[in-house]
Amino acid sequence: NSFLELNLSRPLVRACEALGYQKPTPIQAACIPLALTGRDICGSAMTGSGKTAAFTLPVLERLLFRPKRILAIRVLILTPTRELAAQVHSMIEKLAQFTDIRCCLVVGGLSTKVKKLARFILALDDTHKYTSATQQLSTDIGCIMYLSTSYSYGFGNALFSQVQEAALRSMPDIVVATPGRIIDHLRNSLSVGLEDLAVLILDEADRLLELGFSAEIQELVRMCPKRRQTMLFSATMTEEVDKLVKLSLNKPVRLEA
Ligand code: AMP
Repeated sequence: NSFLELNLSRPLVRACEALGYQKPTPIQAACIPLALTGRDICGSAMTGSGKTAAFTLPVLERLLFRPKRILAIRVLILTPTRELAAQVHSMIEKLAQFTDIRCCLVVGGLSTKVKKLARFILALDDTHKYTSATQQLSTDIGCIMYLSTSYSYGFGNALFSQVQEAALRSMPDIVVATPGRIIDHLRNSLSVGLEDLAVLILDEADRLLELGFSAEIQELVRMCPKRRQTMLFSATMTEEVDKLVKLSLNKPVRLEA
């Protein structure tokens, strides 16, 4: 009953050790071996059960053996809110710390850093010169380099979107996203697509549906290749969630934690 016995590679076992995980939680012990076989999984799991590592570790294991030449988004993780997306992203970075796997966060709304940048741009707009106040703001956000290019984009949200677009174009292996924002990028981008996606993960599916993301998820599922692995996790299994399971999963194994 250890991570090594779950057939995970050394860099992943090391990461679990570094995080202080002594043994897999029940959902991890059940989910990891199954997910490694490529089966679709429908898990009822609450936050706190260790579900994030349960779906992340097998995905990382798969990516360790990906062909290095192919640059493409291989894994898409959809979460209901930007806060959850940020948590999942941070967990993945920790679990992938001894690998070269790259993960990128694509969420809507403005981060504090970008709000500061927006203020900075507006302040510049006002004065047309580089005052000590604008200088302070630019040091705060540490991105004076963006000045010449960002100036024409105006508001921070557009800039934020540009930064995410650039991150996507650099083709991370894993994208953690909220549905609205990633759809905007995929609809408007000629260079970034989901043609080579291997794994789709729907995290907190009940909340994704409660927040009204049903149409977006259906559109995203249609953009993914038919041959893929899909994992769905939900705290509650409602009728709506079941519909989504039927729509997006192929003969799933059901797990409970
Ligand atoms: P989650 O349910 O994915 O939100 O995880 C809840 C918390 O449990 C997170 O803080 C994880 O770092 C932690 N965790 C995940 N797996 C384990 C484990 N095997 N042993 C101890 N803690 C864990």
